[in-house]
Amino acid sequence: MQVIEYKCPNCGSSMVFDSATGMLSCHSCGRKDNIEQMPDPLAKQTFSEDEAQEYHCLSCGAVIITDAETTATVCSFCGSGVVLGDRLTGKLAPAKVIPFSIGKQEAIQAFKKWCRNGRLTPAGFMTADRIKSMTGMYVPFWLYNLDNHIEVQAQGTKVRVYTQGDYQITETQHFEVYRKIRLNYAKVPVDASEKMKDELMDKLEPFPYDQLKTFKTAYLAGFIAEKYNQTDEELLPRAKEKISDYIEAYIRSSMAGYTAVTYTGKHIDTRAKHTDYVLLPVWVVHYDYNKLEHTFAMNGQTGKVVGKPPISKGKVAAWFAGVSGCSLLSLKLISWMMGGGFW
Ligand SMILES: [Zn+2]
Ligand SMILES: [Zn+2]
Repeated sequence: MQVIEYKCPNCGSSMVFDSATGMLSCHSCGRKDNIEQMPDPLAKQTFSEDEAQEYHCLSCGAVIITDAETTATVCSFCGSGVVLGDRLTGKLAPAKVIPFSIGKQEAIQAFKKWCRNGRLTPAGFMTADRIKSMTGMYVPFWLYNLDNHIEVQAQGTKVRVYTQGDYQITETQHFEVYRKIRLNYAKVPVDASEKMKDELMDKLEPFPYDQLKTFKTAYLAGFIAEKYNQTDEELLPRAKEKISDYIEAYIRSSMAGYTAVTYTGKHIDTRAKHTDYVLLPVWVVHYDYNKLEHTFAMNGQTGKVVGKPPISKGKVAAWFAGVSGCSLLSLKLISWMMGGGFW
């Protein structure tokens, strides 16, 4: 069991990653350290995997409550950022990380704006408690480099219509078309945590991959991080699915010269040439409203916000009533349109 905590060499406080400067910083005395130049405490360490699942905070000694996927968290007693080293080594060692560049205050402002945009959010939805639950989370992703060998057979036609004397002539030429294409896609991201909804994570893209840094545990200090629970082999089909539309579009464009094309054979062989385990930054607000359907999530590097604010059925009905001065009958109609559950 290894708990990593960054104590300030000046004052002994717990240091955390600072998204504004990209440095490890001490909120007590203001010291800042450049992470890229720091030695990584996990370098050359090995851990046995079968020890008891109990971690203690180095600052206060309290037991750190985590679930099996957590790799970094905050001590619930003293607030120190703690990194669980043994869950970040060996096969579980991330290759790279995109650090947060958007801070918690910015994320909270974005969340408030998002709530206001859903003008009809249920009363009490945007409570202080909920705002406090704004969590900076490193979500595990696989980044695939996919090499595609593609062979396509098709019958193509070229149609030419022209006039000769009194006649309009339609000339149709037939072609056997064969294409052999090699396509490479680099850094195709697939979220590797079952907890995060795939569609939500897809919408947070793109992440700026020029911001990828060599992984160091200090980037996680003060944040929540998870380890993958689906392997790159398991998720390869999803990576393939993500590029399939691009491949189809490329094949079509390679036959753009024909009036019509009928495919007679298509073979796509996709191989993962290289896969990197990376951690990508996401701000999330957790709550149980409607089974995560309305989760607020924000790309921690670009600021892109996804998710739909919830709309209260009761408020919608009242709003409709206000707009149209309508009768009980139309309220019932609205109730029916909305699934009826509220009535
Ligand atoms: Zn300090
Ligand atoms: Zn503690």
